[in-house]
Amino acid sequence: MHDFASIDELTVLAPNGSYGDKTDSAQRGQAFHLSSVLPAISAAIGHPVATAVHKDPQGLQKAIGLPDVTSAIVVLVDGLGYWNLRLRLGHAPYLRSLFQDENNNRPLASCLPSTTTAAMGVFGTGTCPGLTGMTGYTQLNPDTGDLSQLIQFRDAQEPEDLQQQPTIFETLARQGVRVTSSGLPKFANSGLTRAALRGSHYIGNKDPRARILAAAQAAQKPGLTYLYIRDIDKVGHTAGWESDEWVAALERVDAQLATLKRESPKGTLIVIVSDHGMVAADSNDRFDIAEHEELQHGITLVGGEPRQVMLYLDDVEQTARTAERWQEALGERAVVRTRQDILDNGLLGTVDGRIKSVIGHIFISACGAATVVDSRIQSEQEINLPGVHGSQTYLESDIPCLIDLA
Ligand SMILES: [Zn+2]
Repeated sequence: MHDFASIDELTVLAPNGSYGDKTDSAQRGQAFHLSSVLPAISAAIGHPVATAVHKDPQGLQKAIGLPDVTSAIVVLVDGLGYWNLRLRLGHAPYLRSLFQDENNNRPLASCLPSTTTAAMGVFGTGTCPGLTGMTGYTQLNPDTGDLSQLIQFRDAQEPEDLQQQPTIFETLARQGVRVTSSGLPKFANSGLTRAALRGSHYIGNKDPRARILAAAQAAQKPGLTYLYIRDIDKVGHTAGWESDEWVAALERVDAQLATLKRESPKGTLIVIVSDHGMVAADSNDRFDIAEHEELQHGITLVGGEPRQVMLYLDDVEQTARTAERWQEALGERAVVRTRQDILDNGLLGTVDGRIKSVIGHIFISACGAATVVDSRIQSEQEINLPGVHGSQTYLESDIPCLIDLA
């Protein structure tokens, strides 16, 4: 895709991504996928960690272009999609400078759904949602038969029971490698941290600058440092990514990242990635399930989120017919696929038998600026978010992987 892609071009569904180590494949994903980042970095610091999905961490290191180092910092900027960044690059002088390197001039693919819960599982374990069991913002909790919300693990299984893959952090720590996380104090033992990012020594700071400095300080010793930055996603949801507030947040984060480079010991590898991008929702293109009684028949739960809905059915035999009905009603707003389509195309990667039951029977991936909401169960605020993500469009699922050396 060229530099000046239009929003229309960026909000069609990207080709299906796939999981694996291939570096020369025409397929989207493979080595150039969010799941490759931590395995590749583990190889770069001399402690390669293979995962259930990635058997060749050294191959990934080479493909992504990471030098051998003793200390690495990986920064995850929540919600900073590759194209969101490219289209506002003038406001990010430090990040813009990184694009002069040819290696940084290509996006990686995030997972489907392009949402924090699923992507953190994929990032933290170097595997896929079919193995982590984290398949959406909300998904079925098989123990209760009701929805669970995986940002806070509300009404969910215990994080360690749901997500059973070893994290890269815990595998490294077990090998005696220093692993440090720098983030908000409240996330130190959150459900999401316990599920996807367990195993590090966590340093909590309320002040953003203190979090940057703590990461730079930790990097003085060999090993891996993880820094999480939340603002871009938060502002993207509440104000929309095309807003002045979002640009201001980008400017702040860019300055923070420049500080990180300045304060880090010479020779520290810095890798800046994201979990997903952001789409501006059009309230005129909002499809409210509550207003379509004819579609509600046979649907027991509506999970996922407005850009990536999962429908659970009471009669699985009706899946194909129901999917057809929904596709007809939604028209060009979304692509409707059955669970079988999703599994057959490897969109969740290898799927553990244990995980199958949490996955919806029907997947609705929104296109353009559309959202699919349900005002029976979602709050006014959730329904009206100006910024959303979760679907398989380029804007949501292309992420940066920017490499720098302090
Ligand atoms: Zn978000």
